[in-house]
Amino acid sequence: MKTIISTIRHDEKDDEIYKKAAKILQNGGLVAFPTETVYGLGADALNSDASAKIYAAKGRPSDNPLIVHIADEEDLYKLSCDVNDYAKKLVKAFCPGPITMILKKTDMVPDTITGGLDTVAIRMPSHPVARRLIKDSGIYIAAPSANTSGKPSPTRASHVIHDMDGRIDMIIADDTVDIGVESTIVDISGDMPTILRPGFITLEQVKEVLGKAQMDPAITEGVAAGVTPKAPGMKYKHYAPNAKITIVKGQQDKVIEAVNRMAVESSRSGHNVAVMASSETAPLYTAGQVIDMGSRNDEAETARKLFAVLRQFDESGVDVVYSESFPTDDVGQAVMNRLIKAAGHTVIEVS
Ligand code: AMP
Ligand code: MG
Repeated sequence: MKTIISTIRHDEKDDEIYKKAAKILQNGGLVAFPTETVYGLGADALNSDASAKIYAAKGRPSDNPLIVHIADEEDLYKLSCDVNDYAKKLVKAFCPGPITMILKKTDMVPDTITGGLDTVAIRMPSHPVARRLIKDSGIYIAAPSANTSGKPSPTRASHVIHDMDGRIDMIIADDTVDIGVESTIVDISGDMPTILRPGFITLEQVKEVLGKAQMDPAITEGVAAGVTPKAPGMKYKHYAPNAKITIVKGQQDKVIEAVNRMAVESSRSGHNVAVMASSETAPLYTAGQVIDMGSRNDEAETARKLFAVLRQFDESGVDVVYSESFPTDDVGQAVMNRLIKAAGHTVIEVS
């Protein structure tokens, strides 16, 4: 398949791009587009043949449901039969924005995009390209991240082209994705609002708006054997580059010492080694290719860089990575959640 790649110019010439993309979506095709979190791979959510193409293009397991992207609050009532007070409060506080709500679905929503669940994930993105695409096409757009399943989510058009060129109808390129990690997912279909995936909007912020909220134990403790996680995506390998990542935690000077020692050993045994460090400590690492992940006081910067850095490891043939643990006060919650998954839960504590 020939993939149309169109770059947004932010002038009237863009009209043609939106027209073409809208037509493709209306005809059951696939269009990748930027959002404020990561690039999405969109199809008509109400057309099962169209959403089946998303699963095929990504190699995504069919039981891993998709997030439906809408433009306006009133669309919630079409997709959910129970738009409760939690939903109304979250919409008022955070929408449009990087939050996904899990709600009871209406019959209109096909089982094919919910993995057979009776709930649906709904998000109202704030990115102007995403918003215009939803409005111009008049379609509820089912869109997971536009990466090959298991790989880091795309934050740049080049990432989408790498994974999807030749597999989808169109890629809208506009490198203004500024958060860099996927939306916060909150399950509000039950009594206790539960974060199923941390994101830019934190547990504390959700708690402040709803009065109560909890983190799904599967996030903090991992998915226990024999347990079906609430977000089916949780059980799959994710964000993983080819490199083996080890996270090293503990007192700063001990971490630096341990990483320097392990990096030298790995280099000696022939590995191509990288170290992920904060701006403050990066100069103290003496072996491997040292990657500055941003200041420890700027969690947003680390979030913006994370997936691009993970992808770069594959490009440059890095096969062993040692990473510091980063602060988790704000979006760092989401950063560490992704990084731990990328590391396949390999975390060493030094003392
Ligand atoms: P992605 O769009 O690739 O960022 O992944 C979407 C995430 O949302 C996956 O982890 C899904 O398992 C999760 N998700 C989507 N729909 C639901 C739902 N109805 N209930 C729980 N989790 C969901
Ligand atoms: Mg994804």
